[in-house]
Amino acid sequence: MLLAFCAAPALELTVPLIMLTSARWTDYVEVMIETLQLGLSESDPWYESVLAAIEARGQAHAPYSKFKVGAAVRFSDGRIFGGANVENVSYGLTMCAERVAVYRGVFAGAGRMVELAVAVADPALPYPCGACLQVMAEFGSDFPVHLVNTDRIVHVSFSQLLPYRFTF
Ligand SMILES: [Zn+2]
Repeated sequence: MLLAFCAAPALELTVPLIMLTSARWTDYVEVMIETLQLGLSESDPWYESVLAAIEARGQAHAPYSKFKVGAAVRFSDGRIFGGANVENVSYGLTMCAERVAVYRGVFAGAGRMVELAVAVADPALPYPCGACLQVMAEFGSDFPVHLVNTDRIVHVSFSQLLPYRFTF
């Protein structure tokens, strides 16, 4: 009881607004521990998007691969939309986290893509697949991309990932 009384006010001050929308308390603690391991700081320009991607990963439906991916897309109106991979028993119907986030923002009329973060709890870096890159090319020209794994954040640009795109 004493611990709860002492700890809660201090922790509440650090709860970003985005965390109050969907995360449970245990999710919040796990996310904050992960951000500490990554050295993520509130002063980082990518702080919000990376945090949103890490949080979104918790919403993944990945009973087959067990490989949870979270993505967060910031749109030109300032809003950030999270997405997570949604698998299906018919594997080919599975949808990537990136496209879930993109489609949510497009449906909400949020404008053009201006930033992307993708997060996994794995040593590998979560480079978006080719299908997602082509979809994102539809809604953004070039923007920063933050790739997050268990121990680091790598920053690239969208044009580095997809220098050429299909068009007609
Ligand atoms: Zn993909």
